[in-house]
Amino acid sequence: MACGDILAPLDKQHRLAADCAPNDLRQVAGGAHLRAEAAVALGEMFAAGKQEKGFDFYVNSGYRSYQEQVNTYNYWVQTSGQAYADRTSARPGHSEHQLGTTADVAARGLELEAFGGTAEAAWVAANSYKFGFVVSYPDGKEAITGYASEPWHIRYVGKGVAQQVKDSGLTLHEFLLK
Ligand SMILES: [Zn+2]
Repeated sequence: MACGDILAPLDKQHRLAADCAPNDLRQVAGGAHLRAEAAVALGEMFAAGKQEKGFDFYVNSGYRSYQEQVNTYNYWVQTSGQAYADRTSARPGHSEHQLGTTADVAARGLELEAFGGTAEAAWVAANSYKFGFVVSYPDGKEAITGYASEPWHIRYVGKGVAQQVKDSGLTLHEFLLK
């Protein structure tokens, strides 16, 4: 898989090399890091959410190195078992977070599962494409994506591609493998 390709399909079959790491990371609200273009786009999205709805978004988790994925995956295997780990956490190299273009967004201290079902999550689902982001793992698509619904996990693909994904009705996973 080409390192640095923001449209690289990543799933349980496709992965990045262990040494694949972006060189233009920037800090975003919450302290996590994203690649420059994604960081700017996310800043625009957060500003729009603030202006339209008064939402205070931040990023709970952004870029994750290969080694961090090793640690995270092993943590879930040890605490909740391998089946749970595989539904909720990517194996090392398979995470979209290694791209540096993927963010887990949060608001009001509500992170991950707690973010689901909030007004902020509904706004992200409806509006993130306008800023070039796609919710990678939508509700009801686990059979296709391999992951349980993650309304907080958004990946930057650029505004043109995000619009195309929305119009296609496909998940990002299906769209990138087309
Ligand atoms: Zn995520």
